[in-house]
Amino acid sequence: GSVFSHVVRAPEDPILGVTVAYNKDPSPVKLNLGVGAYRTEEGKPLVLNVVRKAEQQLVNDRSRVKEYLPIVGLAEFNKLSAKLIFGADSPAIQSNRVTTVQCLSGTGSLRVGGEFLARHYHQQIIYIPLPTWGNHPKVFTLAGLSVKTYRYYDPATRGLDFKGLMEDLGSAPSGAVVLLHACAHNPTGVDPSLQQWEQIRQLMRSKKLLPFFDSAYQGFASGSLDKDAQSVRIFVADGGECLVAQSYAKNMGLYGERVGALSIVCKTADVAGKVESQLKLVIRPMYSNPPIHGASIVAAILRDRNLYNEWTIELKAMADRIISMRHQLSDALRARGTPGDWSHIIKQIGMFTFTGLNAKQVAFMTKEYHIYMTADGRISMAGLSSRTVPHLADAIHAAVT
Ligand code: PMP
Repeated sequence: GSVFSHVVRAPEDPILGVTVAYNKDPSPVKLNLGVGAYRTEEGKPLVLNVVRKAEQQLVNDRSRVKEYLPIVGLAEFNKLSAKLIFGADSPAIQSNRVTTVQCLSGTGSLRVGGEFLARHYHQQIIYIPLPTWGNHPKVFTLAGLSVKTYRYYDPATRGLDFKGLMEDLGSAPSGAVVLLHACAHNPTGVDPSLQQWEQIRQLMRSKKLLPFFDSAYQGFASGSLDKDAQSVRIFVADGGECLVAQSYAKNMGLYGERVGALSIVCKTADVAGKVESQLKLVIRPMYSNPPIHGASIVAAILRDRNLYNEWTIELKAMADRIISMRHQLSDALRARGTPGDWSHIIKQIGMFTFTGLNAKQVAFMTKEYHIYMTADGRISMAGLSSRTVPHLADAIHAAVT
C-alpha cells in the first residue's frame, strides 16, 4: 500500500473548477464566463503587441544572461512599478519611504505582505471585504494572520453597503489591517466613489487601521492607469503608511509570467530600509528569488516612452471592449423585456458583473445553455463577444422568467 493511501481527494478550486467542467462539455455553443482572463472578440487569449515587441528586444540583446535575480527581484522593475502605482512625482518615492520587491504576481505579493505583517506587525487581524476574491482568506490565513470580514456589498441595491462598511471598520480593533481592492472590486464590480474613499481614509487613519491595497486591475477598469490608482494615491498623499500588492496579469496580459510587486510605504527612509531587509528573510526560504522574464518585459515597456504609450492604447482598448460588452448585454436584456432591474450591468466596474443570479439559476444556465460561471453569479465580461451576447441574454431571460 502507498504511504499516501489515506490522502483524501480535495475539491476543485471553485473558480478554476469552472474551466474543468467547461472543458468536459462537448457542446459547440458552450461559453466560459468563469475565468478572469481577457479574451478577444474572437474568444482568443491576447498577447499585447507591445509585449511581443519587448520580448523581441530581450531576445535580440545577446548580452542578456539567465543568472539569478536578487531576492527582491529586478531593481529597475521595482522602481518603475512604484512609480506606476504611486505616480511619477510621488513625494513618498522621492523621499525613499517606499520599499518595493518583485513578487510572484498579485497572489505572491499578497502572501509576502501577509507573512511580513504576521512576523513584524503588532496587530494580527486583517479585515477583508464580504464578499471578496476567494483566495484572499486562504492567502492571509496561511500567512499567519487572523481573517475577519467587513460588510461591502448590498444585494438589495447591487451596490456598495457604505453604511455597513463604515460601521464595521469603525468597530474594528485599533491597528487592524484592512484589505482594500484598489479598483474593480472582484467579484462585485462595485467600487466606492472618490468621496467615499476619502471618508474611508479619514476613518481608517483616525483609528490607526493599516491599509493593504490589492491592485490587480490598474488601467483595466477605467482604461486610465492614473484614475484606477486614485484610491491608493489619496492614502499615500496623507503621509501615512500602507501596503500595496500589484499584478501585471491583467493590465499587461502577463498572467502566466507571474509578475507583480509588493510595496510598503513607510514613515521614513530608515524604516523602509529595515522593512526591506526583513522582506528578504520572508522571501528567501519561500522561493529564493523571483523569475526574470516577466519582470524584464515590464521594465522594457515602462522605461521606454514609445512602448509605454503603445501599452496605454492597447490597455484602453481592452477596457473599452469590456465596457462595450456591458452595454451590449444590457441592451439585449432590454430588447427581450427581461424582468428586473439590470442597470448594475452598466454601473459595475472592471472585468466582472455580479449578476445577482442565484446558484439555482446559474445551474440552470449551465445545464440548459452550456454557460459556465461561478455559483455566486459572477460573469467575466472579458469572456463575452458580440457573437455570444445573444446566447447569454437568452439564458438569463430563461433563468429569471
Ligand atoms: N487579487 C484579485 C482581486 C484578483 O482578482 C486576482 C486575480 N484573479 C489577484 C489578486 C491575483 O492574480 P495574480 O496572482 O494572477 O496576479
